[in-house]
Amino acid sequence: MEAVLRSHCDEQHPHQAEDFHGKHEENGRLSAGIKKDIEKLYEAVPQLVNVFKIKEKIGEGTFSSVYLATAQLQTGHEEKMALKHLIPTSHPLRTAAELQCLTVAGGQDNVMGVKYCFRKNDHVVIVMPYLEHESFLDILNSLSFEEVREYMFNLFKALRRIHHFGIVHRDVKPSNFLYNRQLKQYALVDFGLAQGTPDTKIELLKTAHCEDQQEDSVHHSVQRSVFGERNFNVYSSTYQENSSTKLIKQSKMIDVSSRKLVTKKKIISTKAVSNGAARKAASACPSNLTCDCYATDRVCSVCLSRCQQVAPRAGTPGFRAPEVLTKCPTQTTAIDMWSAGIVFLSLLSGRYPFYKASDDLTALAQIMTVRGSRETIQAAKTFGKSVLCTQVVPAQNLRTLCEKLRGTHSSCMRSQDEVPSKAGNDSALPDKLCAPEPLGKQIQQLKSFQEGDGALEMKATDMKGWDQVPDEAYDLLDKLLDLNPATRITAKEALLHPFFKDMKL
Ligand code: ADP
Ligand code: MG
Ligand code: ZN
Repeated sequence: MEAVLRSHCDEQHPHQAEDFHGKHEENGRLSAGIKKDIEKLYEAVPQLVNVFKIKEKIGEGTFSSVYLATAQLQTGHEEKMALKHLIPTSHPLRTAAELQCLTVAGGQDNVMGVKYCFRKNDHVVIVMPYLEHESFLDILNSLSFEEVREYMFNLFKALRRIHHFGIVHRDVKPSNFLYNRQLKQYALVDFGLAQGTPDTKIELLKTAHCEDQQEDSVHHSVQRSVFGERNFNVYSSTYQENSSTKLIKQSKMIDVSSRKLVTKKKIISTKAVSNGAARKAASACPSNLTCDCYATDRVCSVCLSRCQQVAPRAGTPGFRAPEVLTKCPTQTTAIDMWSAGIVFLSLLSGRYPFYKASDDLTALAQIMTVRGSRETIQAAKTFGKSVLCTQVVPAQNLRTLCEKLRGTHSSCMRSQDEVPSKAGNDSALPDKLCAPEPLGKQIQQLKSFQEGDGALEMKATDMKGWDQVPDEAYDLLDKLLDLNPATRITAKEALLHPFFKDMKL
């Protein structure tokens, strides 16, 4: 297997079709494009021909295509499988690490397992049991509160398992957590971006961890390009000579020469984000260097000449934890818990994606609109980052926010039709939908619905439990969306949270 390092600017997944299924097949017939893809796959990995009938494409991203196939068993039974064809340019060690996560941690506690793996030359196909699953967006607004509780419980089960093995998934989001509503089955998939904790039990993630150390050696640069985010803006100037060196050097040059431009663009864009609040995030500045751009909307030459902090930044912007967004070099399993919190936030508010940001600063600004700017700045300090924000945005009450977005808030109940669309197409910031309310205002509970006349009672049964969301739900959400990774709740703790009392582990 030849290693081919790519040099492209895609640093994360978000460009992939998140809800792929349903769109590829018209009346049960495969489109010509997909037919061709399947033929090509058979050609690339001929061993598949004798074993699998590839039926359709069920997922397509930047780094893989996933197919549904059936395998003829000796018993005569047909078994459904998912075939993940990794892009041929995936680094072999990266591929091996993904596979090792599945083989070591998978197959239990809602973590996807693996059946076989096929390879020919640089083509690798991972064969997994197939789990038919819903599209998150399709079911989001029909889920009962109890289903949401079960969903989160099962997500934490999966996270507890992988975190126990020292795996940081780094891309926790609904499309990577398969959910079969009828069977009540769940599976965490996609270890394509996973990294190891310092004490990881996954051998192949151990080397990967070295890249987190900020040492600047030839070796580590190579590893970073293998295991870090799936882009290669490596900035080391000493680089091993190989076929990919040119590409990396090239991207490095682009990176450095355009840094000024990029930085400027960032500042401009912060002006454009919601409410005109100019925001700026910067790495902690060494105090011995005098800088004259502090608290202004430009970047001075001192700051431009600073080394860019390099830290893993993989994942999808809307799900990234604050410590990821601010490029904190030490990132732990806590980043997955933040992402799980964002999933929970979507489930409670009925809004998906909750945050839709194309860059990290905007994503951070969006977090501030929910968690508060002072709070975010304060938390960033604890992990050595100084964040500037020219406007003070208060933290929102999570219950009020979710109820308003879902349309179950007392102020919305009279005219539910007027509640803005919550189904993904509206990607406005939450604060736009939810006019900030004076903090501390008492929330009117919907208790009145439980009692009273028949009409109200009927309405309450239609509410699928959403009129009785207990405080524990928001307490857990608050602990997941803890801006400080050091105090953020762990998966193990989350399973023991009062929200899940009476659930069997
Ligand atoms: P990528 O790295 O490209 O995101 P994933 O492993 O996340 O690849 O798979 C992409 C999509 O394929 C998933 O979102 C899911 O819809 C589908 N998929 C992956 N694995 C399975 C599986 N074992 N069973 C059913 N569908 C799967
Ligand atoms: Mg995925
Ligand atoms: Zn400066």
